Amino acid sequence: MSEPNALIKPWHGVPREEIHWDPTVVDERCIGCGLCVTSCGRNVYQFDYEDNVAVVTNPLQCMVGCSTCATVCPREAVEFPSLGYIQQLIRDRKILRQSKDLLKNHPEQYETQKIKS
Ligand code: SF4
Ligand code: SF4
Repeated sequence: MSEPNALIKPWHGVPREEIHWDPTVVDERCIGCGLCVTSCGRNVYQFDYEDNVAVVTNPLQCMVGCSTCATVCPREAVEFPSLGYIQQLIRDRKILRQSKDLLKNHPEQYETQKIKS
């Protein structure tokens, strides 16, 4: 049996497969600089050396809400769903409540460090 992929896990209880957040490369605009590939910390991309283009090979590993690769792309060749999609997901799945519960129940994880004088 293969090992579970640690980079693919539910986001605030929502199965990752149900969240449509991953990049799309517009091949016609891509100049093959590779910045999206080398900037992503979750190995969402690989590089096609033959066609000199970035390729999305692990879309479910994309961090929900992240758009770093689109930000750094010099040709605006990386596209994502609108931010409104994420906001709607937060409303539909009652994620604010979950976030508040996490803060409340795990202060050891989230509390600011008290500065000792
Ligand atoms: S950063 Fe943009 S132009 Fe560069 S490889 Fe990625 S998609 Fe192509
Ligand atoms: S949005 Fe972030 S996690 Fe997703 S592919 Fe781009 S850089 Fe990687």
